[in-house]
Amino acid sequence: MVLHFAAPGIAARCFYREKWKKQWLVMISTMIVDLDHLLATPVLDINRCSIGFHPFHSYVAIGIYACLFFFPGLRVVSLGLLIHMFLDYTDCVWMGM
Ligand SMILES: [Zn+2]
Repeated sequence: MVLHFAAPGIAARCFYREKWKKQWLVMISTMIVDLDHLLATPVLDINRCSIGFHPFHSYVAIGIYACLFFFPGLRVVSLGLLIHMFLDYTDCVWMGM
């Protein structure tokens, strides 16, 4: 969970040196995609892999996030979402071990 804040922060600092705080906030706000967890029962299941399970964490959704990267105005949103998915995915990998 700490990484969900730290990783976008590091990415923002690397890619947007001047206004990184604003970009960081945008990336953190992409965490609202986790709201789709509320649609699932039970809402919280630490043994469940989010990727491919929740609507905003499906492979189709991830493909859309990747496409957003090609629109300059949405690039930071795309980046935040992809970092989010990557971190959720690493959680799944850890669980599988
Ligand atoms: Zn998530």
